[in-house]
This record gives sequence, structure tokens and C-alpha cells, in this order.
Amino acid sequence: MSASNPDRHPLVEGPRDPEHDPGASYALDPKYVAGLTDRVLASSGETVEVRSPIDGAPLAHIPQSTDADVEEAFRRARAAQERWARTPVKERERLLLRLHDLVLDRQEEILDLIVLESGKARKHAFDEPLHIALTARYYGRTAAKHLATERRPGVIPGLTRVDVNHVPKGVVGVISPWNYPFTMALCDGLAAIAAGNAVVAKPDAQTMLSALLGHELLEQAGFPRDLWAVVAGPGSKVGTSIIARADYICFTGSTATGKLIGKQCAERLIGCSLELGGKNAMLVLADADIERAAEGATRAVFSNGGQLCVSIERLYVADAIYDRFVERFVARTQAMTLGATLAWENDMGTLISQDQLDTAVAHVEDAVAKGARVLAGGKARPDLGPFFFEPTILEGVTPEMTCFGNETFGPVVSVYRFHSEAEAVERANDGDYGLNAAIYSRDTDRARALAARIKSGTVNINEAFAATFASLDAPMGGFRQSGMGRRQGAEGLLRYTETQSVATQKLMRFSPMFGMSDEAYAKTMTASLRLLKALGRA
Ligand code: NAD
Repeated sequence: MSASNPDRHPLVEGPRDPEHDPGASYALDPKYVAGLTDRVLASSGETVEVRSPIDGAPLAHIPQSTDADVEEAFRRARAAQERWARTPVKERERLLLRLHDLVLDRQEEILDLIVLESGKARKHAFDEPLHIALTARYYGRTAAKHLATERRPGVIPGLTRVDVNHVPKGVVGVISPWNYPFTMALCDGLAAIAAGNAVVAKPDAQTMLSALLGHELLEQAGFPRDLWAVVAGPGSKVGTSIIARADYICFTGSTATGKLIGKQCAERLIGCSLELGGKNAMLVLADADIERAAEGATRAVFSNGGQLCVSIERLYVADAIYDRFVERFVARTQAMTLGATLAWENDMGTLISQDQLDTAVAHVEDAVAKGARVLAGGKARPDLGPFFFEPTILEGVTPEMTCFGNETFGPVVSVYRFHSEAEAVERANDGDYGLNAAIYSRDTDRARALAARIKSGTVNINEAFAATFASLDAPMGGFRQSGMGRRQGAEGLLRYTETQSVATQKLMRFSPMFGMSDEAYAKTMTASLRLLKALGRA
């Protein structure tokens, strides 16, 4: 079947047996899969099998790229970028707005692939086409404004004209994780191409198909095919090959890998943005709407099984409402439907891998062994699928426990009581991370004042994480060990540009004129500096 035909569905009718038919896959039509995997620039002849975390069914064999393939990807991307940089920004905007429509039109197919590859609940998968549509619309409407040449005041009013240009960096390497496989593979690259760059992307090995569907949609929207190359393989190999050639790196993933990448970029003196891990805190103040806070906490903690960089893993609740809040939060958590199917019926799906399950199990077992209490969940659920873990609430977590300060990146939250708001802010600021936070309070002015004291790149008031994430004009990123640089907004676009100042000097030059001595020139300049200050000039 044609992968680009929205009327045709990628799922096969009944299970085929790959043991007897090497081209078959239990879950997806092999022709559909080949239409996607052919998009990987790879010549090694080697493939790596990907299985669905839902039931272990094989999904695809992903061709693996060599260093020479990465070289070829950059060669093509550089040629495409030179033409692209001359394409009017209004034309780039038009293609982004087409992408917006395509993503919405083909969302069922996108959701199927995301669910099959990641095992997340369909409602959590929906956040991904939604975020890409928002991103495409945002840059489709603002790229020209952000990239416009700016006039700035020159040193001599009227005689020095300064124009500031935003020049594309060239070819941007985008290295992305598996947790939001469609949006993480696309969103940062969209800003890069909007700014006139090309992209060489290395999505995570576990979720290549969603990323490759994104590549197909870009082409369908009208972007030149070579403007965005996709390579595949282990991060330490293919990622390193990309960093060795790129003009800028956009990395999303763990703090440990981010530090390695930062060092390699420093070695080459290229810029990078690093979107890393978090141990995000939610504050539920004494005047919060308890039901609303409990609903928000359930989403904040368990979206995509907690495999979300901005998910909440620490919940600080005012003493006065602690018992009532915890009762509502536990009730909502216990009422969640777990399951991994393509339908909309599940509140939470499976974790993506054995590694993710092992971390969740280890964090909970360690906490319980050291005295924490399990208020909800706490167990793996092999009856539902190989990597299922229950949505879990812990109480009585102390600093000796692994989950106190380390990111679980799973469906596990620790609930703590606080006695004053100053104490809550201090505890929220504990540790080394600083990605996201949430505050629930009916007094939004007070909540905003508290937000300014929290060391994190985003703070959501009376919402879990979506208010900042979906407000595309608002920059997003981490303080401290949660990263460097920002995605979204003007900042998310301008990181991919070099700022160039062009000054045009009229009449007067910066040296003595008309036979003036150096000393007289210095005196004249001194007098003009005093005058400009007196006139209020910056
Ligand atoms: P990871 O760092 O292991 O992998 C992320 C990507 O980096 C993958 O594509 C991987 O192949 C590649 N990679 C791995 N080692 C590499 C190396 N040495 N050189 C170059 N590339 C390399 O991260 P993960 O465990 O897959 O993802 C989960 C982490 O990502 C969590 O910590 C989570 O908080 C974080 N995350 C952050 C954001 C954000 O926006 N801040 C978003 C999603 C995930």
C-alpha cells in the first residue's frame, strides 16, 4: 500500500507469521513499513529489528547507517540548504502551514504508529500531532517576523546605520529520544528549517517509524527531500558522526548523554541546545481547588506512563488539605484503566522497554525497603504486557531513597506534606534539575509570585504541563542540569541562526578628518560622548 495515501490504513487485517514469511510483520503491512524504512540513508546492509512493546510483535527492520552515510547525508543537506536559504521566508511559512493540515488530516495513521512503537495510550499519543500542528502553525505564522532584519541605533545618530541579520547556521543535527517519537523527532527541526537550515536527524532506534512518517509528511508538504535527511544507528556511533559534521546540535535526552554531547560540541566550537531530564515538582497550595489539582496531578504524573520530561515526580501538598487531596488523587489513580490497544479506551499504556520497567521496579522496591508506603499501584503487571507498571503513589520518601532525587522517568510519584509556602519553594528547588513545575492555587497572583522563585524553565499554574508546552510563543527548556537553550518561541528559532551586524557609515569616519590632530579628535569624541549621555542615548 502507499504510505502517503490517507485513505488506506497501515494495519494488516490479521496476524501474519514472520517466522514463515520473512517479509511479514504481525502488526504492520510490510510494504507500508518498507515505504518508511526506505527513507533512512543507510548502505551498511545491516538492519535492526524493532518490536512493539505492546506484545513483542515485530514492527520493522531498520536499516543501519555508516559514517559514510552520515557524510553523504551532510553532503546532500548542504547542497539543499544553500538553495533553501535563498527561498523566501514566506514560502517556508506556506509549507509549514501545509504541514499543519497534513498532520491533522493523517492523525489516525500517526497515532497508530506512535501507539504501536511506544505502547502509550492513544490519548497520550494525541499530544504529539497536536504539538506538531501547533509548532507548524506557530512558525508558519511568525518565522518572517522573527527573522526580519532589525534596525538598531548606531554609534553616531543619523550617520551610523546598523542592520542586524539572522543568518542560518547551515546544517543542524537533531538527536531525539523515543518518549514522544513523532513530536521530538520533528518539532525542533521545524524551527531549524523555518530559519533556513537543513537537518540531519537521528531519531531513537526504538521509534524510527514515527519519525520516518514525519519525514514523509514533510516531503508531502513540499519541503525538498534532501533538506531533511534521516540516519539510523546507535547514538554513540551515528550521533558522534553527526556531531563531527554539524553546524549546530539540538539534542533531547538524558542529562548524562547531554553532557557528553556538550563536550563534543565544545571541542568543535559549535553551539548546541540540550533539552534534558527533570525531577519536576508540583505544589498544591492550601487554597487550591482540590478536585482540579487531583485531576491535574493524575495527568502530570501518569501521562505516557511518566515517560515525559516535564512529568511530575514530586508532589508537595499543604498540610491543611493534604488528607483530602491525597484521598482524591489516590481514588483517581486507582480508577485509571490500564491497557495497550490502539483504541481510545486506556488511561495509561505500557512502558516502552525492559530498561524502563527495571528502573521503575528498582525505584519502588528501594523506597519500600527503606520505609516508604505505597498508596496506589507499586507493581509490574505482566498480565497486561511485558513492560507494564502500575501508576504508583509513594508516601514517606526520604533522601536516602533512590527515587528522592533521581529521575524515574516512569509512573511513580512521591507525595510530601508542607507547612509553609516558603518551605514548599525551598523543597521544590532541592536537587540539581530545573525543567518544569506546577502550582495549584485559587490565588493566581500569589502563585505567579511563587513561580518566580522556582528554579525551573517552565511553571504551570492550575495546569500540569500542557499550558506552557502548548503555548508555542513561550520558550521552553531547563535551568541547571535540565539543559541549555530553549525550544519554542523566537528563542527556539533564533538559536539556529548567527546574528550578523552590518553597519553603514555616512559622512564622518572614525579617525581625524580635515587635518584635525589625534588629540583634537579625542577631545571632539569626548565632548560628543558627554552630549549623547546628556541626551539619554543608550
Ligand atoms: P538518551 O540520552 O539515552 O538518548 C537520547 C538520544 O540520544 C537517542 O537518540 C540516543 O540514540 C542518542 N544518544 C545516546 N547516546 C549518545 C551519544 N553518546 N552520542 C550521541 N547521541 C547519543 O535518553 P533516553 O533515555 O532515550 O531519553 C529519556 C531522557 O530524555 C530522560 O532523562 C528525559 O527526561 C529526557 N527528555 C528530555 C526532554 C526535554 O525536552 N527536556 C524531552 C524528552 C526526554
